[in-house]
Parts: sequence; C-alpha cells; structure tokens
Amino acid sequence: VVDDDGLTRGGGRRRIVLFPLPFQGHISPMLQLADVLHRRGHLAVTVLHTARNAPDPAARPDGFDFVPVPDGMPAAVAASDDPLEKILAMNAAMDTSGCVRDALASILLSATEEQQPVSCLIMDTALPAAQKAAAALGLPTVVLHTVSAASTRLYRSYAMLHDKGYLPAQEQELNRPVKELPPLRVSDLFDPSKHPDQESANKILDGNFRTTSNSAGVVINTFEALETPELAALRAELGSTGTSTKVFAIGPLHELSAIDAAASSLQEQDGSCISWLDTQAPGSVLYASLGSVIPVQKDEFAEVAWGLAGSGVPFLWVVRRGLVAGGGESDPDLPDGFERAVEGRGKVVRWAPQREALAHGAVGGFWTHSGWNSTLESVHEGVPMLCRPLFGDQPVNARYVGEAWKNGVLLMEGEKKLERGKIAQAIRAFMDPGEKGDEMRERAEELRRQSAACLEPGGGSTCRAVDELVDHILSL
Ligand code: UDP
Repeated sequence: VVDDDGLTRGGGRRRIVLFPLPFQGHISPMLQLADVLHRRGHLAVTVLHTARNAPDPAARPDGFDFVPVPDGMPAAVAASDDPLEKILAMNAAMDTSGCVRDALASILLSATEEQQPVSCLIMDTALPAAQKAAAALGLPTVVLHTVSAASTRLYRSYAMLHDKGYLPAQEQELNRPVKELPPLRVSDLFDPSKHPDQESANKILDGNFRTTSNSAGVVINTFEALETPELAALRAELGSTGTSTKVFAIGPLHELSAIDAAASSLQEQDGSCISWLDTQAPGSVLYASLGSVIPVQKDEFAEVAWGLAGSGVPFLWVVRRGLVAGGGESDPDLPDGFERAVEGRGKVVRWAPQREALAHGAVGGFWTHSGWNSTLESVHEGVPMLCRPLFGDQPVNARYVGEAWKNGVLLMEGEKKLERGKIAQAIRAFMDPGEKGDEMRERAEELRRQSAACLEPGGGSTCRAVDELVDHILSL
C-alpha cells in the first residue's frame, strides 16, 4: 500500500467520518487531520458536526461532505461557562435522541451505494455517545486526543492518583512531585473534587478513559521528539491493560495540514494586527491570548490589562467576546483610560490569526493560557512562552514548558490572584534577553528545529506516523 507519492493508498475507494467536539481547540485539529488523511490517504471525508459552532460554510474545504446533528443542549447549559456540563449534556442528548446513530446509518448507506465503504469513525475522546452509536452499527472508532501525550497518560492515571493519595489534593501537598508522572506536581492535576460538580468531572474522565480503551487507534496531536518518554510510557500502559490500541503521534497537525486557518476558525480573524506587527521591531512584541473557552474574572481582567500597560513592552492582546466571566458572549469593556495609556504600543483585537502572529518576526514571546493547540503552535514557531494556565490540561502543558522543555516560564506560579505590578515585572523579565532568557530562547529554537524535522517527507516521524495511520485505517 505504501507509495511515496501517496497515490495508491486509499485510492479514493474508502471513506472516513470525523466527529469533533464543537470547541475551537477541538474542531481545528480534527479538520486538519481530515485534510491530512484526505490528501495523503486519498480517503473521502464526511465531517459530522453539531449544528451549533459549525465550521463556516463559506470556508469549508472542497470535496468534504458536512452533516449536521443537533447538540441537544438545553439553552441554560449552552449559555453557561462550564465546558464539562456542555460535554455531558451533549452526550446525554445524543444517547436519548439517537441522532448520531441515525446520521451514521445514513452515511454508511450512501457510502456503500457509492462504493466508498466507511472505514471508521474518527471522533473526539469526549464523545462516548458517538462511540456507542458507531458500535451499534458495527463501525470501528479511532480517537483523536487534542491534548498532549502527557495529558492523555494523566487522564488514564486517575485510579493510581487516588490510590497513592495524590488526589483529592491537599492544600499543603500542592508542591509534591507526582513521581510516576514527572515533571508534574499535585497542583498541576485536574482534581475532580475541586470542581463544583464532582460527579460530572468524574464522568468526563471516565468517558475519556473508555473511548480510548474501546478504540481501534489513538491519534495524538504531538510529535515523537517532543514527548518521547510520555509516548513510550503510554504505549506500554495501553499494551499492559490488554488494549491493543495503536498510538499515532501525528503533530503538529496545524503545520502538516494545508487547510486554511479560516476553514476551522469559529470567529472572524482580525488581520489588521499583522500589518501592525509589521511596524514593530524584531522580537519586541508580546503576543497575549487566553484561549477560546475559559473566561477570566472581571478583576483579573483588569489586572491583566494594567499589567500589560505597566510593563512598557509592546503587546498584541486578544480580547475575545465572552472573555470576562458573567458577561455572556459580549465584548468585554477595557478599563477606563487603558487605551490612552497604551496608545501606539499596544494593539487589542477580538480574534487574531494566531498562527500568523506567532510566525511573525516581531513577536518575541507569547503570554498563553497554555491550551495544547497554542502550546504546539508556539513550539513550532520557536516562540518562548509565559504561561498562566487556567483549567484542565493547561497546568500540565505549562509545567512541561517550564520544567521539561524549558522554552518558557510560569507567570506568578502558586499565586491564586494576578496582580498588575507583578505581571508588569514578570513581562519585563521574560522579554528581556538576559542570560536566563538566552537559554530559554535556545531551547525554543531547538524545539522549533525538531518540530520542522518531524515533518520532513519520508524520514520525519510524523510523516511516517501518518502513513502508518492511513494503512491502519485501510486495514479496519
Ligand atoms: N486562536 C486564534 N486566534 C486567537 C486566539 C486563538 O486563532 O485570537 C486559535 C489558536 O491558534 C488555537 C486555538 O484558537 O489553535 C485555541 O486552542 P487552544 O487549545 O490553545 O485553547 P482553547 O481553545 O482550549 O482555549
């Protein structure tokens, strides 16, 4: 099946169905994966998606079929800030309505009629209802993890973490190293007992565990050189539980895929920031974005604003709709006097073309919430990170940046509340290339080279993994 130009692989005779979770950080890698498999494996693609947060019809890739299903979320849940409640509500509604099973059944039927039998459903790990629907129709599933290999492993370790007393986390033990999962500490672990609804949090972890164990393959948006020990441990652990699941490290997907960023963006990108970056000195700008899902409290938002203003450093800041808790999907109000204070030095946009911004020579650092996509995009461009994680797997990513990869630092680590004076000082120290900064920039550059190397056609680990994944899908 293996042919270097890829022409004899899928041969256009097989179809795959993909089903992302309807959040930005999940939709993008799933569409990128679809594109990679379509081009490399010549697989026909159907994207199943929720009607809410659907990919923009005007920007959809040519040749893909899109099939909407209702997410079934009650309006109050849809309007809430809690992603876990949303995920559970979607799964519950899909189980009850049977809409995913019906959609899959109809796709299977027309695919057979068109002589493009469906090989598998590639789905987000957080959609156990989709896996159940596929299983009822005899369709194998492959899961896409949109987090790192380290987080994938962590999510499979909750029995151990409870057995060994790491969780529920005790206040005085937050700094305790989790020696089974280095370099993590107790404070980096997502702790269900701290979530307002502990049962929901446990259900999500359990669903994630089961979808992976029951899948015919695990795809992770990472690359071998970045997470060598984590991938090896994950493979060994999956093997030792009798799960014959194969693990494919096929990242960084955003670079491997030729898909336009607008095709998967749920918001309109403001390109004016790129022309603004053109006017700034090389490496001088701090790009700041706190991700697409988790809001910040109003007082913290003001501290961030005045911290950026007080640093004296040029910055590009993404202030998206809904960034401030309690404000719904409205545009947050910048503090009084802020715009005047940063005139000429600071640029605020509602949504940036982030990958283009990170690749821009004027950007010298990234203040990030440490979402996995943002982390990987920054690694790929060799941009050092100033990490202030908010939730979920973000503390894990930040710990890896600060301690394993050393291509960044944590902002005000261990301090619950951000404070403008400390932020300003931390930004100055981060952007100023002293001796410590040199090491951080060297590490970022080294990782940039490794990320480019894994994408080398033929020899790069990611390219090989894609070929193996195509072969695996064709064998299902
Ligand atoms: N992003 C973007 N423009 C912005 C902010 C973010 O295009 O102004 C993209 C970013 O490139 C990344 C995604 O949104 O691909 C955010 O994903 P991540 O996993 O980092 O965070 P999350 O969505 O979970 O908050």
